[in-house]
Formats: sequence, structure tokens, C-alpha cells
Amino acid sequence: MKTVFSGIQPSGLVHLGNLLGAINNWVKLSNDESKNYFCIVDLHSLTAMPDKTSLKTSIRDTLKVLMASGINMKNSVIYVQSDLKEHAYLSWILSNFCQVGELQRMTQFKEKSNSFGTHSGLLTYPILMAADILIHKANEVPVGDDQTQHLELTRNIADRFNNNYGDIFPIPEKTSGKSGARLMSLRHPENKMSKSSDDINGTIYFNDSKDSIIKKFKSSVTDSHNEIKYDLESKPGISNLIEIYSAINATELKETEKQFQDFRYGDFKLAVAETVINYLEPIAEKFEEISDSEVDSAVENNLKLAKVSAELTISEIETALGID
Ligand code: ATP
Ligand code: MG
Repeated sequence: MKTVFSGIQPSGLVHLGNLLGAINNWVKLSNDESKNYFCIVDLHSLTAMPDKTSLKTSIRDTLKVLMASGINMKNSVIYVQSDLKEHAYLSWILSNFCQVGELQRMTQFKEKSNSFGTHSGLLTYPILMAADILIHKANEVPVGDDQTQHLELTRNIADRFNNNYGDIFPIPEKTSGKSGARLMSLRHPENKMSKSSDDINGTIYFNDSKDSIIKKFKSSVTDSHNEIKYDLESKPGISNLIEIYSAINATELKETEKQFQDFRYGDFKLAVAETVINYLEPIAEKFEEISDSEVDSAVENNLKLAKVSAELTISEIETALGID
């Protein structure tokens, strides 16, 4: 049976990029015949040195969004990374299978080290990500395109471990949807939409009001040509809007282009805003209905399942390494 792992940082409010690039695929996979682990990776978010109160709120809110998103909980295990200490333990073991140069080449390290300063957590967190994936021996990792490089590193680490100590890990594959795998900021379409950026007008949060969504789309940055055409190089803003519409409606980019070919930019922006409002509304409503105690009991039960899986892998690894 296929095993799926993916994570999300509690680094702020969940946004449309997280939903279309990752969580949407989690929902789909959770209805397949697979074992799914979806993790709130709070240890990763420590790299940005968050405020304690907002981190706590973010962990709970992110769990609620996952529960509200339609993930089939019957074959999915949703838990918080710091509750399962084996993640950090495996990360240490795997750090011996990773070169410093590889970590320094990571685009996210280069980008994030500018905003947060350079501490070693920012450099080594891709190893923790490898541990997150490998601890459950996942073969499939549904993530957005910004994680391609990290997943490649995970594959290399798994391969090196296997070559030295026997075939313990499957080599995981990345999966993403045809569209929506990399949503850009509505205000700065050259930057990806991000939880941890302070670009609130360029980011659509899952619980934005209808008015705020319309306002953000109306003021989204496009170009001066008035042609609805997917062209990432010269029309990143319009391409982003086409991407959003196509991801929500599960249509091809070309189809969306055709559907709106005679539209003016203003009307197209409103059509995309409307699609987004309809998509987010049920998630935001469900989110409000989920109580804190529902979250607590779901997490407690799920953690037990995650622990069984992690302990099994760790015991195999310890035997392979001779530290059992
Ligand atoms: P941060 O800015 O703190 O890194 P983030 O918005 O990048 O937050 P993550 O928690 O790092 O979100 O990522 C969670 C998942 O969402 C990952 O699978 C990631 O690939 C995906 N994701 C993040 N941003 C986007 C985006 N703009 N478009 C599509 N997918 C995205
Ligand atoms: Mg990120």
C-alpha cells in the first residue's frame, strides 16, 4: 500500500497557495487506498523564531483548517511534529548522509537567510524534512513546487543511507496538481504567496471576507496588454490568475484562457474572485464549527498511530546502524 507524507508549517494563516498547491491533493489522496500522514511541522517554524502565543494559535488553527478541508480522516493521520520526538532523532542520524554544500545550495536557505539572519537551523531544516518523510517510509509526497529541491535532497539522503546500510527507505516521489503548484503574490507576481511574508494584500487567506477577496483581486498586479494569455515570462500576474481559476475548477490552463479570451482584465479578475470566494466559503465555515476539544481528541488518537509507525522505522534503522 502507498504511504503518503506531507507537512505544513504553523507559520501564519493558511493561504490559497497552501490549499491549491498542497492540501487539495491531500484531500484527493486521502480518498485513495493509501496510508496518509499529514503533519503540522512546528519544529520547522522555529527557524523564524516565532512569538510563543502566535505559534500556539497557529498550530491549533492549522489543524482546524486541515480538519475543515475535507481530508478523509478514516485513512489519514494528522498530528503535530514536536509531539513525536523521533523526527528530530532521525534528523540527526540523516545529517551524516548530507553534505554541507548541498544545504548551502538550497534556494529557500538563500532566500530565508536574508530575512531571518543565518543560524544553523535554517541551513539544516531540509534534513529534518527528509526525516519527516522517511520516518513513515513514505513513497509519495504531495507538495507545492517550492519543495522540489528539498524533495530531491531527501531522495539523495535515502539513497545514500540505503547504499551504506541496506534497503530501508523507499525513494519518495513528489506529486503536485496540474495547476496551482506555485501560486504567486497578487501584488508581486514574481514572489510566491507565503504565510510568513508580510505581503497581506498579495495573499488570499482561507478566512478572508468576501469583500477583502474582491478588493485583493481587483488590485492585483497585471500588465498593460489586456490579453488573457498564460505566459509566465511576460504576463506573470495574468498567468497567476489563470492558474488559480484552473486549479479550483480542475480545468486545463488553455481551457481557462479560451473561456475568458474576450474578457477585459477587470471582469476576469472578478470572475476569479468569485470562484475563490465559493471555494473558500465552506472551508472557513467548517473551520468555525470545529471546537478546540475536537482538535485535541483527534490529535491525541492520531499521534498514537504516527508513533507506532515511527518507532517501527527507528528500530529498523538502529539495527541497520548497529545502535539497537
Ligand atoms: P512559509 O512562508 O512559512 O514557508 P508557506 O506559505 O511557504 O509558509 P509551508 O508551510 O512552507 O507554507 O508549505 C506548506 C505546503 O504548501 C507545501 O507543500 C508548499 O509546497 C505549499 N505551498 C506553499 N506556498 C505555496 C504557493 N505559493 N503555491 C503553491 N503551494 C505552496
Ligand atoms: Mg514554505
